Amino acid sequence: MKFREAVKHYEKQCAENGVPEETVMAFLVEIANQERYNLYVHYEEEMPEELEAQFQTGMERILKQEPMAHVLGYSWFYGYKFLVDGDVLIPRPETEELCARILACIDRFFPEGEVHCVDIGTGSGAIAVTIAKEEPRVRMDATDISLEALEKAKANARENDAEISFYAGDMVKPPIAEGKQYDVLICNPPYIPSNESMETSVIEFEPHVALFGGEDGLQFYRSVFTDCRKVLKPRSFMAFEMGWNQREAMSRLVKEMLPEAQFEIRKDMNGKDRMLFVYFGLEDAVK
Ligand code: SAM
Ligand code: GLN
Repeated sequence: MKFREAVKHYEKQCAENGVPEETVMAFLVEIANQERYNLYVHYEEEMPEELEAQFQTGMERILKQEPMAHVLGYSWFYGYKFLVDGDVLIPRPETEELCARILACIDRFFPEGEVHCVDIGTGSGAIAVTIAKEEPRVRMDATDISLEALEKAKANARENDAEISFYAGDMVKPPIAEGKQYDVLICNPPYIPSNESMETSVIEFEPHVALFGGEDGLQFYRSVFTDCRKVLKPRSFMAFEMGWNQREAMSRLVKEMLPEAQFEIRKDMNGKDRMLFVYFGLEDAVK
């Protein structure tokens, strides 16, 4: 089959199976690149047999709603490659925005010297690796309750040549036990309310321990808000990802549990409330 015919065929199949059509080209570009095959030059030609077989097998899985990242075995995040499988959340584009904002805050509040950071619930290690790579002054710790996730995160740190210390355990408990003191605490906790319905590709293929945050989705924020001051320096900030519909509940929770802090909720590029920043001892952090 020619490249063009194969693409058309699977785009039609995708449309019929409720899978976004763009997935076809995204997947093909990815596997063709692995073979160092310039797709655009050869688009009107016959597909090499091996590539065609790989494309077909992969597309059949994608048509059954399996995430493309699982078929490939990796996903791109902030320009870095992360190995992923059913044990970790596939890193999301919204979380790249969180990273960009954290890096800007580090520049603003801690312009010199070492910056001690922790990523709670690191999953694939996407946030921890990205921040450590992008800001060489950062000393990064990362935690997760899932030992399988920690193994993936360690592999991803190694593959990306990032230096990170990993700890297993429940939320802020490991750094408390280690007597750590941080400038920055980062956390993208599971925040989906437990009764919310979700797409098949997420609910059937991604780990539930990475998704659900109790009845109102806020259980893990409560846990961090309760313990955070034990591991934070007097001048420090926290950065969280949050659900687009949690603004009011979240504001109430921060005011109630951390009345001494300044905080702001920022939108992602889709205009949805997505990031919570909480500042301690930082003058004029929120203008
Ligand atoms: N940080 C990654 C990212 O942004 O792509 C993964 C975020 S995922 C939404 C939440 C992560 O928290 C999962 O890796 C999950 O295993 C971990 N987690 C769930 N419950 C936890 C707990 N009680 N203590 C520590 N980590 C937990
Ligand atoms: N953004 C993810 C989703 O909608 C959930 C991530 C999380 O709970 N932190 O699938």
